[in-house]
Amino acid sequence: MYLKSIEVQGFKSFANKLTFEFHDGITAIVGPNGSGKSNVADAVRWVLGEQSAKQLRGSKMEDVIFSGTETRKPQSYAYVAITLDNSDHKLATSYEEVTVARRVYRSGESEYLMNGSNCRLKDVQELFLDTGIGKEGYSIIGQGQIDKILSGKPEDRRELFDEAAGIVKFKKRKATAEKNLDSERQNLCRINDILSEIE
Ligand code: ATP
Repeated sequence: MYLKSIEVQGFKSFANKLTFEFHDGITAIVGPNGSGKSNVADAVRWVLGEQSAKQLRGSKMEDVIFSGTETRKPQSYAYVAITLDNSDHKLATSYEEVTVARRVYRSGESEYLMNGSNCRLKDVQELFLDTGIGKEGYSIIGQGQIDKILSGKPEDRRELFDEAAGIVKFKKRKATAEKNLDSERQNLCRINDILSEIE
């Protein structure tokens, strides 16, 4: 699995539709300060479901929408799509190629798309669980993040290893099963109460 392309339109400094295509080997994005290099990484974070404006270096989610310049009007929405080659089926879907997209309007209305069909944020998160690519994954190492990992709490470091080992999805499923079990136990208690009242 590898990242084939990133398409951006109206996202941060990218007013026009622009496609970054990645080929074999290493790709470096270079440019002067403030030219938008980090905005490319922000675009990937955002399309993977980032909900925190702060993580995207803004103060509110609307800040991801191109805000205009002296010569250009602001855009009404931001759109990002990433396309991954999935010929090795590392992503648990039968598609050979997966495109995940996100769009947000100034009104706050937003949508996620997977291969052109509307989907939920949860679907995007589940697709990337344990692949290292998700929003919490380690595929994007931000400025200062290595320091943060090294000096962080052992529990936080553990999360990173869990993701790399591919056990996050099992932990999540276990937590959901325990929650369901708990609610069933409470139902059972309630039924027993009712039964003893009837008897
Ligand atoms: P450095 O090398 O200094 O880290 P960089 O190349 O990574 O810089 P970015 O931080 O990606 O640059 O881009 C910053 C630029 O993006 C700024 O010029 C800022 O005005 C612009 N920008 C950010 N959000 C928006 C927005 N919503 N609309 C228009 N421009 C934006």
